[in-house]
Amino acid sequence: MTHPMAIIFVLLTFLAICQAQDATTLPAPTVCIIGSGIGGSSVAHFLRKYSPNSSPSIKIQMLERNGLVGGRMATVNVAGDTFEAGASILHPKNFHALNYSKLLNLEFKEKDSSSGCSSLGIWDGKIFVFKTVKIGCDVPLFDKLVSLVNSLLLFIRYGFSLLKMDSFVEGTVNRFLKYYEEPASRPIFETPDEMLKWAGLYNLTTRTLHDELVDFRLSPLLIKELVTVITRINYGQSVYISGLAGTVSLAGSGGGLWSIKGGNWKMAAGLINQSDVALHLHEEIESIADLGDFYELNSTKGNSYACEVAVVATPLDESNIQFIPQISVSKRKIQHTHTTFVRGLLNPAYFGLSAVMEIPELVGTVEDPDLPFSSISVLKKYDEKDATYKIFSRQPVSDTLLDSIFSVRKETIRIDWPAYPHYHAPEVFTPFLLDDRHLYYVNAFENAASTMETSAVAAENVARLILSRYFGTKSMHSSKFSSGSHREESHVDL
Ligand SMILES: Cc1cc2nc3c(=O)[nH]c(=O)nc-3n(C[C@H](O)[C@H](O)[C@H](O)COP(=O)(O)OP(=O)(O)OC[C@H]3O[C@@H](n4cnc5c(N)ncnc54)[C@H](O)[C@@H]3O)c2cc1C
Repeated sequence: MTHPMAIIFVLLTFLAICQAQDATTLPAPTVCIIGSGIGGSSVAHFLRKYSPNSSPSIKIQMLERNGLVGGRMATVNVAGDTFEAGASILHPKNFHALNYSKLLNLEFKEKDSSSGCSSLGIWDGKIFVFKTVKIGCDVPLFDKLVSLVNSLLLFIRYGFSLLKMDSFVEGTVNRFLKYYEEPASRPIFETPDEMLKWAGLYNLTTRTLHDELVDFRLSPLLIKELVTVITRINYGQSVYISGLAGTVSLAGSGGGLWSIKGGNWKMAAGLINQSDVALHLHEEIESIADLGDFYELNSTKGNSYACEVAVVATPLDESNIQFIPQISVSKRKIQHTHTTFVRGLLNPAYFGLSAVMEIPELVGTVEDPDLPFSSISVLKKYDEKDATYKIFSRQPVSDTLLDSIFSVRKETIRIDWPAYPHYHAPEVFTPFLLDDRHLYYVNAFENAASTMETSAVAAENVARLILSRYFGTKSMHSSKFSSGSHREESHVDL
């Protein structure tokens, strides 16, 4: 008679073999990614980078409703010159973007914001309450001097608060650097809340930038003027945005800023090219149905895509995608930013000045509902009477208004961007995982801050989450979104 222990041993061995076979014989999944911006392209890149060699090769389908990749990284052509129309600047510590540009051999373009030549003026609708100088910009020897004079002018107006602001921003940037730690020692997150808590950034999303800076003892004048100018330029919003989005916005106004020569969209294009992706342009997804073993994505053209894993890499807030069954996401308003490009010449009289050269190259504004724009900046100067300008505003700028701001207007291009979330505090986050299976949402992280780099950071986490849930063990941070008492008010079903 066979010994019972031997039978148990044989059974256990059989089970172990079956399990091992399960892990390796899982069918190669098709991952469908909706959106070809930096978020979608980064998911594709990191899926390839982190896919275990032992697992079958993933098939990646990318669906993009536009005829071009890049999403909010897009360029515009004004009178023969190309300018960034959406996301324009990168921070020196945006390490994913830096790695992408090295990997893809893209050329850097530095934006020297420390130069005294990019003069700044703060306009309150009647006068410039503060102005830096711009004399001597064409003479390299004077550059440094002008820069020093401007630092002094800023110091005289805002005092030591400027240094406090720098240290506040640096502390936050340093915490963000945790997201670049080795994957082996870095958890995978199912929710942005967990991801932010792990880096020590979550609390900044629960209070306004204003309150954070007041507690940090920044002077009210600095908050009312310079900080306001920056949040209005970078997010089209006031200092009452959440502390984290506000701090990210302040970080985007320091030195060492850069961009990709020819357009930041080249990062998305390069990543997609390198990641063996089947890209479908002009393909707008209108529904995602969970059919049990796979998701069926249907496009407005009538095409269907079957995928084991579906990734939404675009904000769902103003999208028409229908989910079957319904999913629940946190309510979020989108801030529209109207970007108007004008080739021509500003009218000094509009600003109560007598000569164009007295108008600063960057005109920022304070918070006042009557002000029709957030900022006007010179993008390129052709000669003393001809330049290309970029205007940011919350509402469209009318021709009548443009005719009073400009004395010459040769070309005007208008873009209405559904730009970024309308930030508030406390922020309520949607999880990265939208159901109990394999439906993911990269832009859940956009309530933290909206930048090219934060999209890449969220995408890297989502790629790891997909791989760990599909091929491996579940993430240790499986803090599922729980329906709290405020769920009704703070969530919407799609
Ligand atoms: C005016 C402006 C200025 C900015 N400035 C900066 C800056 O200086 N620095 C910075 O880092 N960030 C900046 N940002 C923010 C930055 O652009 C975004 O955070 C980032 O590009 C978001 O990338 P994403 O891939 O997550 O989304 P997106 O770039 O929006 O990509 C989503 C893609 O999905 C596609 N899509 C949407 N719905 C569907 C559908 N149903 N079917 C198929 N495809 C679909 C869209 O066409 C789009 O291509 C700026 C944004 C704007 C608007």
